[in-house]
Amino acid sequence: MAASSQNRDREEADRPQQADLDRCVHCGLCLNSCPTYRELHLEMDSPRGRIYQMVQVSNGAPITESYVEHIELCLACRGCETACPSGVKYGRLVEAARAEIEQWIQRPLGMRLLRKLVFEHLLPRRGSLRLAGAALRLYQTSRMQRWVRASGVLKRMGRLAEIEPLAPQVETPFFFGHMGSGVYPER
Ligand code: SF4
Ligand code: SF4
Repeated sequence: MAASSQNRDREEADRPQQADLDRCVHCGLCLNSCPTYRELHLEMDSPRGRIYQMVQVSNGAPITESYVEHIELCLACRGCETACPSGVKYGRLVEAARAEIEQWIQRPLGMRLLRKLVFEHLLPRRGSLRLAGAALRLYQTSRMQRWVRASGVLKRMGRLAEIEPLAPQVETPFFFGHMGSGVYPER
């Protein structure tokens, strides 16, 4: 991922507001309510650490790959918000930080296409989601999955090798009976 020019004027960019950032007093009371901090034990993957990084960027620090990674690792679950005695609107902060990131980085073409496919064509459409579920089920129940894993082809496809084992096991009654019905509106 290439960061674009860091000297561009960010004044008009959608970004975390100073008043929201200033509410954080760095007390750390939110840390134990954060799943990424509890899992990774890294300050930079805690709410306090992410706010600290947002402040740095707000003060003119470049948007680095490391910053993007720490902000993207946030689950946006807002567990930290309820634990915060200062009323920090963390959800609003992380949404703004992500909006700012999208304006200043250039993702690789493959990633841009994948994100467009998933967010604009797959998730909002029940029909597409069902089709993807059918394809995933075919992949999992035929010999294709075993063949793909054994062939080592995934290792040559970047992060797909990490993501593939995380795909949910598709159960026909669950996927075709519940996925979408009542959750995703008809299109
Ligand atoms: S977000 Fe709230 S709880 Fe967490 S460090 Fe800042 S002030 Fe403390
Ligand atoms: S919203 Fe992000 S920072 Fe806050 S608790 Fe959830 S994962 Fe942690």
